[in-house]
Amino acid sequence: MRDGAGKVTIVGAGPGDPGLITLRGFAVLSRAEVVFYDYLVNPIILRQAGLLGCGRTDAKLVCLGRHGEGRILEQAEINEQMVAAAKAGKNVVRLKGGDPAVFGRTAEELAALEDAGIPYKVVPGVTAALAAGSVAGIPLTHREWASSVAFVTGKECCDKDGKSLDLASLARFPGTLVFYMGVTTAPEWSAELIGHGKPADTPVAIVHRCGLPGQAILKTTLGELPTVLAPGKLRPPAIVIVGEVVRVQADADCLTVRQLFGRTVLVTRPEQQATDMIMLLGELGAAALLQPAISIDPPADWSAVDAAIGALSSYDWLVFSSANGVHFFLERIMETGGDLRLLDGCQLAAIGPATAEALADYRLQADLLPEEYRAEALAEGLAAVAGQKAGQRMLLLRASRGREVLAERLTAAGAKVDQVVVYQSSDVAAPEPDIAAALAEGRIDWVTVTSSAIARSVVRLFGDDLKRSRLAAISPLTAEVLSEAGFPPAVVATEYTTDGLIGAILEAEQSK
Ligand code: SAH
Repeated sequence: MRDGAGKVTIVGAGPGDPGLITLRGFAVLSRAEVVFYDYLVNPIILRQAGLLGCGRTDAKLVCLGRHGEGRILEQAEINEQMVAAAKAGKNVVRLKGGDPAVFGRTAEELAALEDAGIPYKVVPGVTAALAAGSVAGIPLTHREWASSVAFVTGKECCDKDGKSLDLASLARFPGTLVFYMGVTTAPEWSAELIGHGKPADTPVAIVHRCGLPGQAILKTTLGELPTVLAPGKLRPPAIVIVGEVVRVQADADCLTVRQLFGRTVLVTRPEQQATDMIMLLGELGAAALLQPAISIDPPADWSAVDAAIGALSSYDWLVFSSANGVHFFLERIMETGGDLRLLDGCQLAAIGPATAEALADYRLQADLLPEEYRAEALAEGLAAVAGQKAGQRMLLLRASRGREVLAERLTAAGAKVDQVVVYQSSDVAAPEPDIAAALAEGRIDWVTVTSSAIARSVVRLFGDDLKRSRLAAISPLTAEVLSEAGFPPAVVATEYTTDGLIGAILEAEQSK
């Protein structure tokens, strides 16, 4: 293939949980120039791949319709647009929910690409049936009860053009039946299965919105299904698992290790720093939403930083008050042709474990890490050092806005302090409409607040709607900012890290 020629990669995004895209799928997506994505794809994946959000306008993103909103593109139009983008030399990704090969109309897309002579690849994904099984603790196969499993579409159950499902055969199928797109047609297909001899007491599990906000698991029987899924009771998407394997879940205490199952948690950190928290929340069973409250960018002008890099040998201490500071400063050293040897002779101070970890990413050990992770504690530790020998030179690598307490205390303790801004922190102008609506409608259980700057921005972004949710603050200082604005947090972390914050939420949930 000619280099630079257009191509299409069809990528399975997995079900709702953004942790369930494959590493290859993610890598391909991160390099995409044009992305056509299904409405069921979690937008966090697009953000994390650097395609959505502040300052990322280079990749073209096309959302292919949504139930009840906007225009749904016809398959032919999607094919046409994909071919056109590839012909224009673009690296195109067609991002599909779950796995592309399962009820994804991939055959039609591949045929269109073949016809147009466009090179393509397919990257598999976790299909909804498999994610639903694992979320509910239901093995789809079982040594005693199910040695086969069938993926069935409920959509064709009652097609008028005679393409209806062979429900007589499915009633005799010796294994688990997993229905996709089967919510609205459930009364018909369940009655037919029973009519063809499938016992009405066959256990059924419905996994609703798997990995998405509002996810839930309902248990019933085939006979009761029409009542549980009566018109208007439950909106798609849902997976319906029919078979003896559903009994296994009754004994499994898988939900107790997913302590935040069914909870929706809003992450408000800058998007570069949100991944760990989103992944941890996913592991705990929560659905994470991401609305960065602040954005982190390089300084508009590097000259002060470059001058400081040129004078590194004159400093006794480099003081880092955030992981961002570490990354922006050390990357700048590399970008300007230097390397870590320039730090020789400098002691390194970190405000907390995340900052120390950021240093460790560069194989650097913090010489000073206060027990309590806040500027006052760092100042105290450094002031003790400054007091030992007058006139020590300290360089504070800081954000465009930040607290002055550190510089003031160190100067008072006799140090000679310089400060440089190594990254810009600015407030995000407005929330995504979907997120604002979810909060206003009480669909978000927790809003996490991981710094004072974020606290102020969150209050400005959401105002009184914050009262529809519970706030979790990373530290007493952050809690104070929230309380002063009239939004006292429900929990405050005792260890001032994101893990500590999630720990505080878990504790509150368990004591309920
Ligand atoms: N290619 C997709 C399926 C697309 S068909 C895959 O492999 O998963 C759409 C159907 O998939 C929905 O009607 C629903 O039955 C199921 N589905 C997709 N995402 C889901 C989710 N997060 N939770 C429950 N069901 C889901």
